[in-house]
This record gives sequence, C-alpha cells and structure tokens, in this order.
Amino acid sequence: MKKSIAFTNVVLVAALTISGVVLADLQPDKAVQDGLTSESVLSDLKEGNQRYVALQGSTFAVGERREAAQAGQFPKAYVLSCVDSRVPVETVFDQSIGDIFVGRVAGNVENEDQLGSMEYAAAVAGIKLIVVMGHEGCGAVKGACDDVKLGNLSSLLQKIRPAVTSVEGYKEKSSEDKEFVSEVIKTNVNRTVADMRVRSEVLAGLEEEGKIKIVGAYYSLGDGSVTFFE
Ligand SMILES: [Zn+2]
Repeated sequence: MKKSIAFTNVVLVAALTISGVVLADLQPDKAVQDGLTSESVLSDLKEGNQRYVALQGSTFAVGERREAAQAGQFPKAYVLSCVDSRVPVETVFDQSIGDIFVGRVAGNVENEDQLGSMEYAAAVAGIKLIVVMGHEGCGAVKGACDDVKLGNLSSLLQKIRPAVTSVEGYKEKSSEDKEFVSEVIKTNVNRTVADMRVRSEVLAGLEEEGKIKIVGAYYSLGDGSVTFFE
C-alpha cells in the first residue's frame, strides 16, 4: 500500500514537472524525500516564496495531508525563524503539513534546544536544508541594539548583542537607524549560521558529507520576498 502511494507520487511529480504545474497537494513520502537534494529543496523554497510574493499560493488539500501525516513524516527542510507574527513561515514558502520543520525563537538565534531539534531533523528525519531566516524590522534585534533589559528577555537579547557590536561604520548604534538595524539583522543571521557549525558536530558533519546545506536568509515585510545569502 505504502509502495503504491510512493509510486503514485513519483509519477505525479514527474507528470507535473513536465507540464510545468506545481502540485503542492502532495505529502512528501520516503521516495519523494530520497529523491531530494539540498539544491532542489532550496529551489523549491525559492519557488514557493515567489508564489507567495505573487499572491499565487497553493490551496492545500488539508484533509488529505492530515490523513497522510499519520503514517509518518518525510519533511525537506528546517527553518529557524523569529517568532514575529508577521512572518508566517509555512505561508511565506507556500508549504503545508509534513513539508518543513519550523523552529522559532525571538531573534532567530540558535540555542542548545534549537540545535538538538535541528540535529533530529537532519540526522533522523532526513531534511536536506536548514534555513536561518531573519526579517525586516525585527523587534528582538532592535531591543538588542538598544540593550533593553526585561526579565528573561535580557538573556535572550544578549545572544544578539555580538551582532550589534560587530557591525561597524555607524556612530549611533540605535534602533532608530533602519539601515543599521537591517545590517545587524543580516549579521545576526550569518553569525547564527557560523555558530551552528561550531556548536553542532552533527550538523557540521552532515554538511561536510553533502547531506545537508545550511543557509541564511532575510524576509522583507513589505513585498514578502525572501533573499537567500549564498
Ligand atoms: Zn523578529
């Protein structure tokens, strides 16, 4: 039964690739996942974002996907994002149930729990791509720029501070300066990606073997576009 579903998906994917139509209703299964590469998943997310930008997002067969989800998961990517309500990650990449892992924490910084989650996603669940996505107008980054102190938020913002201090060429390192904030957001993403490779032997090893790719990205609030740092 499982084999025939996988076969059907492969045939459908092939047919739809030929016709140029994107069928987002397909729940990824083992056969589909095995056929993916880091590059093909990156292209998939880029194309999904283009559909979102063009307001041509898919209408997913949620019922069918929920049904299929009971059999297990074979997702393609992990996106580490900020918690910001204006960045609905699945929607931004036009993805649905069973497609991607989403880890969220204010300022999209990595911590031990996020790293553990990514290691599970990569080494056990078979994802091919990790995206660390910062976004325009990030409140957490602004808070770090101003060195805000507030309860447990203080220690979280300290994780973003190295990005604030490493951006040079600005007299007033203030959240009022949009260009400065934007530089810090991008620097924070790049630092997070670099830190992940240092702090996780599992992820660094898988990347070296070519099994996964780790890439940074920036989401623009106004037009919904995602720019990948490659
Ligand atoms: Zn944010």
